Amino acid sequence: MEEQVRVLIIGSGPAGYTAAIYASRANLKPVLYEGIEPGGQLTTPTDVENFPGHPDSVSGPDLMGLMRRQAERFGADMLTGNVTRADLSSRPFHVVIDGEKEIKAETLIIATGATAKYLGLPSETKFRGQGVSACATCDGFFYRKKDVAVVGGGNVAMDAARTAVRMGAASVTIVYRRTEADMPAIQAEYQAALQEGVKFLWKTSTTEFLGDEDGKVVGLRANTPEGVKEYAFDRICLAVGSRPASRIVSTTKGIETDDNGYVLVKERPFGMTSRKGVFAGGDVVHRPQTVVMAMKAAKSVAVGIAQYVDAVKLLSE
Ligand SMILES: Cc1cc2nc3c(=O)[nH]c(=O)nc-3n(C[C@H](O)[C@H](O)[C@H](O)COP(=O)(O)OP(=O)(O)OC[C@H]3O[C@@H](n4cnc5c(N)ncnc54)[C@H](O)[C@@H]3O)c2cc1C
Repeated sequence: MEEQVRVLIIGSGPAGYTAAIYASRANLKPVLYEGIEPGGQLTTPTDVENFPGHPDSVSGPDLMGLMRRQAERFGADMLTGNVTRADLSSRPFHVVIDGEKEIKAETLIIATGATAKYLGLPSETKFRGQGVSACATCDGFFYRKKDVAVVGGGNVAMDAARTAVRMGAASVTIVYRRTEADMPAIQAEYQAALQEGVKFLWKTSTTEFLGDEDGKVVGLRANTPEGVKEYAFDRICLAVGSRPASRIVSTTKGIETDDNGYVLVKERPFGMTSRKGVFAGGDVVHRPQTVVMAMKAAKSVAVGIAQYVDAVKLLSE
């Protein structure tokens, strides 16, 4: 039998849990499906240094556990399951969980996040969280007085490098596999990075991360025009792009995304996609960001959805 849901939240990262907290408090009785990564990206062992209220940092899994408990306290229904199919062509929306369970949802919040792209090197997995990361804002605290490499050549790489400078890194070097002329970053970003003292290694293609006996990263190996070289770095930030977890979108007609697959949303009601009644928030909209940004968007989405539910009710009365 098909289950009827008023507000269905897909995803259990900071955006999903925040949407659940605010939607519950607005008495919208949300049901949340957690997906294959309950707690989202932060459940990879990592210390969160930039979450207000935790002066000595908080572990990602602990933080997500607290958010989940808070959403539960307000009555959100948290369920295990992955959305494997969705037909959003008309309301109520038809959603399938794990290929079996069928749900009809009056409204939907897509909070499925995004993942940073990695280079796919075996050593990358080994050193992830041990000096190699894909989020300069998140790791900035650890850059102080360290030699930092940023791998990539786009605007995100420039931004990561400038963040590292601001965080007090001893040196910041962008490692890019092509030439200066090939770099996709806009000139203004590049010039700003140069002025702030960022150094550049051109035609330097990273092939391996190097570590010490304690399992900490100590540098990288790269192919260069002069042959294979090794460079010493204390911290390495990967800025080679990201991809949204918008599978739900891609299996769904009528939801507009940008060229990279990030969901496009409106300002009013906040977070509504091109399909009325379907909302989205967090990294699936805004590219890999920060916990606070994902929460801010999701809080606004919950307000937007409450306004929408009220408006729809008014129309049907
Ligand atoms: C290693 C690492 C460290 C980080 N450290 C910090 C930090 O210190 N500070 C900071 O501010 N930010 C940090 N970030 C960034 C932060 O984690 C993200 O900005 C934030 O998690 C985005 O939240 P979100 O809810 O949009 O998505 P996510 O956290 O990605 O959550 C997405 C959720 O959607 C679910 N999902 C996906 N597809 C489906 C589906 N088909 N059906 C059901 N569910 C689905 C997943 O299971 C997951 O629960 C870090 C990121 C990483 C990877």
